[in-house]
Amino acid sequence: MTQDDSGARLQQVTAQIAAAAKTAGREPGSVTLVAVSKTQAADAIEPLLAAGQRVFGENRVQEAQAKWPDMRARWPDVELHLVGQLQSNKATDAVALFDAIHSVDRPSLVTALGAAMAKSGRRPRCFVQVNIGDEPQKGGCAVADLPALLATAREAGVPIAGLMAVPPAGVEAAPYFALLAKLARDQGLAELSMGMSDDLETAVMLGATYVRVGTALFGARG
Ligand SMILES: *Cc1c(COP(=O)(O)O)cnc(C)c1O
Repeated sequence: MTQDDSGARLQQVTAQIAAAAKTAGREPGSVTLVAVSKTQAADAIEPLLAAGQRVFGENRVQEAQAKWPDMRARWPDVELHLVGQLQSNKATDAVALFDAIHSVDRPSLVTALGAAMAKSGRRPRCFVQVNIGDEPQKGGCAVADLPALLATAREAGVPIAGLMAVPPAGVEAAPYFALLAKLARDQGLAELSMGMSDDLETAVMLGATYVRVGTALFGARG
């Protein structure tokens, strides 16, 4: 992909976010675009960096460890977000590398993250991932278990900024986004990580503060 393509795609996604925010009576600046660069090589990512994008999402700790140190040395203000499932034995590495973790979903992981944060003094912004469609194969904490997991996080010294979800594929996402927004409101949490390439406008209209966008920025993953 050339730098021009990247710049144009970035502009288009940014305009989509701004239009949806305006429709909902929100400030466009209240939505952070996370460019999901999983599986993309540096030469696909660098044009987006050159176009001004600074917040990126990866779904695997090892892939991010291999890919990002060089680019971060050149663009020190990059912010890295983990958007994929995290194994507890990778908690230390994740806390060291990422500025935000969107996939906190079980007590054992909360405990591991709490220990890693206490030891390193780093406190990435954390989101609890909710299995909003109650799908057995999907990561995320069950809706019914959310209050208990938030209590565990408080005890473990893991600050939770908000909630994240990936709604079921192939159905209208709006009811799931609305439910996630209600859960966050009920729990007094300000941030909502929801919306991907196909449904980012709906997500912004329903209150997303972070949208996670891959395909619309990079094209289809190989
Ligand atoms: C891959 C991924 C995205 C980006 O999805 P696109 O449809 O390519 O925009 C967002 N969130 C998570 C958790 C992902 O794994």
